[in-house]
Amino acid sequence: MEHFYNCPHCFSNVSILIDISVPHQSFIEDCERCCNPLEFRFIVSNGQDLEQFEVQPIGQ
Ligand SMILES: [Zn+2]
Repeated sequence: MEHFYNCPHCFSNVSILIDISVPHQSFIEDCERCCNPLEFRFIVSNGQDLEQFEVQPIGQ
């Protein structure tokens, strides 16, 4: 599923693709606008509902 978030570096509203088949995930990916690394964490419940979503800048 696609999820929109506000990048903590460039404050753009950007989207990432989330694999909702895995209930707990954290990974690092670069913002597609400003290319700064971001850490994503999220929890999926019932195999389809995005229960919690966090995005944090790396190294701050
Ligand atoms: Zn950004």
